Amino acid sequence: MKFTVLNQLPDGFFSAHPTELINIFDGPTLVHLDYGREQTIFISVMLHGNEHSGFYAVKKYLEQLRERDEKPNRNISLLIGNVQAAAQNARFLDGQKDLNRIWSNGESQEELWAQKVYAEMQTKNLFVTLDLHNNTGKNPHYCAVTNLDSSTLQLASLFDGNVLYFSDPKEVFSNYFSTLCPCLTVEAGQSGDPEGIEKTVSLINRVQETNKLDDIGDILRIFHEKKIFESFGKIKIPRESSISFCDEKADFNFLPEIENLNFNSISPGYVFGRANNIKQHLLVFDSNNNSISGSYFKYVGNEIISIEEFYPAMITTNAKIVHQDCLCYLLREIDL
Ligand SMILES: [Zn+2]
Repeated sequence: MKFTVLNQLPDGFFSAHPTELINIFDGPTLVHLDYGREQTIFISVMLHGNEHSGFYAVKKYLEQLRERDEKPNRNISLLIGNVQAAAQNARFLDGQKDLNRIWSNGESQEELWAQKVYAEMQTKNLFVTLDLHNNTGKNPHYCAVTNLDSSTLQLASLFDGNVLYFSDPKEVFSNYFSTLCPCLTVEAGQSGDPEGIEKTVSLINRVQETNKLDDIGDILRIFHEKKIFESFGKIKIPRESSISFCDEKADFNFLPEIENLNFNSISPGYVFGRANNIKQHLLVFDSNNNSISGSYFKYVGNEIISIEEFYPAMITTNAKIVHQDCLCYLLREIDL
């Protein structure tokens, strides 16, 4: 995997559709935009090729600077991610690795490339890192952190949305760079969602306007109003079972609008779905892959009834993804 560094955006960047970035970038590319400032903000977009909002947000931010003839308070280094996958509107292509699972000290060509990006960015005086993503399903806008340090939470408070803390998987971009500076992952709704793009542009502006993260204030006060969730498990279905989100009869049936439950509290007694095959139950796992199925659901007739409060997130209504990964993640609210 070629390590490409540029010192300016190539011609055509501002007019390109994400699927056309392959025509102006060879592959994943690091672009340093030096405005003669002391500190640098590092922003990565499209580590997943089909998640375009980050690209649009950065483009819009840079266009606004140009229109106002303004110089930002910090230099910007931009990592343009998987342009090959973007050309096919895919997260990543067959034979490629997921570019948000390669940030570790391994030996694969992708991991060696990730280490070069890290070494290069280590020479910059980094203020913060922002990693811009989208969700496949319908979720409220949220940002994610891989630690609960004050500076990281102060940064998270600049984004208009929920905050999610997760520690697994570890090989994600933001976790790797958190040894250099506070890092934030943004999940700005579904790809191209205009409100998510606006919120991301506002985040970049707020970061640029913030002198020191400590100026944002005490995190206990900030998070008195704002919720922090922790991901602690996931719901899967048995491999051989069928699942449906419409009226068609399957082993597991859920309402088509189940995605509206994302980040909403599921109280004990709530009918989460229906199980039509008495032999099959939902499989609930904690972060260590231990089964916690019996603590979360009971089965009365064909109803799947919740026992313990939780918040589902990243629910997918795509049966293939349910089989490959999971139906949803489980969150709980945490107190600082
Ligand atoms: Zn992503």
